[in-house]
Amino acid sequence: MSWAHAIRYATPDELHCVWRNSPYECSAPKCHAPAVYKVGYRYVTGRQGRVTSATRLICERHGEIFCKRYQLELPAPMGEGEI
Ligand SMILES: [Zn+2]
Repeated sequence: MSWAHAIRYATPDELHCVWRNSPYECSAPKCHAPAVYKVGYRYVTGRQGRVTSATRLICERHGEIFCKRYQLELPAPMGEGEI
């Protein structure tokens, strides 16, 4: 079970994998599309019911799926409304 789902555009820094020196790919299984969004959520782990928060970088398509699944609005494109 997971809750407190949130999504936003990842920053260029977050999308750059330092140890591989290349952009991150989507963290969904078998998806190798470039990551665009950062998502976060909380879930309970182990028998003690410890609450853990997790973040993932995901691609555009999986961002849409995530939003539909958790009834979230897709974030506005980065830079929209800014000069
Ligand atoms: Zn993906």
